Amino acid sequence: MIKPLSEYPNSDGFFGDYGGQYVSEILMPLIHELDQLFHSEVQTAEFQEQLNNYYRHYIGRPSPLYHAKRLTDHCGGAQIYFKRDELNHTGSHKINNCIGQILLAKKMGKTRIISETGAGQHGVATATVCALFGLPCTVYMGAKDVERQQPNVFRMNLLGAEVVPVDNGSATLKDAMNEALRDWVSNVDSTYYLIGTAAGPHPYPKMVRTFQSIIGQEVREQSIELLGQLPNTLVACVGGGSNAIGLFHPFLDEPSVELIGVEAAGHGLDTHEHAASLNMGRPGILHGNKTYLIQNEQGQIAHTHSISAGLDYPGIGPEHGFLKDSGRVSYATSTDNDALDAFQLCSKREGIIPALEPAHALAHVLKIAQKKPKDEIIVMNLCGRGDKDIFTVADALGVDI
Ligand SMILES: *Cc1c(COP(=O)(O)O)cnc(C)c1O
Repeated sequence: MIKPLSEYPNSDGFFGDYGGQYVSEILMPLIHELDQLFHSEVQTAEFQEQLNNYYRHYIGRPSPLYHAKRLTDHCGGAQIYFKRDELNHTGSHKINNCIGQILLAKKMGKTRIISETGAGQHGVATATVCALFGLPCTVYMGAKDVERQQPNVFRMNLLGAEVVPVDNGSATLKDAMNEALRDWVSNVDSTYYLIGTAAGPHPYPKMVRTFQSIIGQEVREQSIELLGQLPNTLVACVGGGSNAIGLFHPFLDEPSVELIGVEAAGHGLDTHEHAASLNMGRPGILHGNKTYLIQNEQGQIAHTHSISAGLDYPGIGPEHGFLKDSGRVSYATSTDNDALDAFQLCSKREGIIPALEPAHALAHVLKIAQKKPKDEIIVMNLCGRGDKDIFTVADALGVDI
């Protein structure tokens, strides 16, 4: 018997070759405790009820499944549907995971939350749930990112979080991650590390997937209810991979459903200015797990680029490495320019300004929809709204605002 794909990781946290727990031994007891609590707690009726209550009344779930008719007409092929996760409180899917993890942190009796953030989206979502649950919150952020992302730094401060700029290395996300791990090692007893994507040491990839799978579960129910069938194709953008795995996981063992992740090709895969870890990276170890990483010849983590901050990450959740190698999911790419075009088209034709991250997924949807028959259904996760990106887009279009 071949094990169904949805049943990975194994008990050591491996998805085939990827994943695992590459952390200092001081953290091992803590991640074991977290693993046990996660497995015993998530199943309970009490936990599920609490979680669903926040999903419903705080986040605003379920998010709609919307038929994008004018974009469908524009392409003239398959029917395009959006899963509207941009309508969530705080404007993206990140809050789904933050709520789940902070409930676990409370159960563990932790009194302090730490996190790291690149552009600030995960930092804002973490600061939000810390305010909601009354826990102090420290967010590590590369000093360069602090400078570039002042509005999100201010948001985190308004929500009561302390933002700590990290000057080491390239002063960006990976340096902030190292600093957060260092803090965690020194404060294991009191502190919970709230990771924002389906990466990090086991059980984080599985845990984040579990909390984000609400996206795919709702799509399943909504498709059957609205359309009387499962979708033919699911598409999601891939940064660390949490919104994509959340959409895909409930469909991994449905071979009739095609699954496509879309990475950021930045200025192009033939430049060094991209963030396509699965398409261009090699396996290595970062942030407590083995996965595909964008590295230079010496095995150092290389500089990445994407116009969308959320996709500008040199790694990828380990499960995606496994799903790529297995052939179950294919991973396409969209460039900065593809995403900018899709961003504008979606705004004008649907009245929805998408975040630049899902604009990458949309660019790919626009390409494939026209080649597919009209009776096929494509569901794309519209995982974030574009309000945060208007300055970046104005800059890229040469508009002074
Ligand atoms: C953070 C973010 C992403 C990338 O993260 P994943 O873990 O790959 O989902 C994508 N879209 C939006 C809107 C984000 O905020």
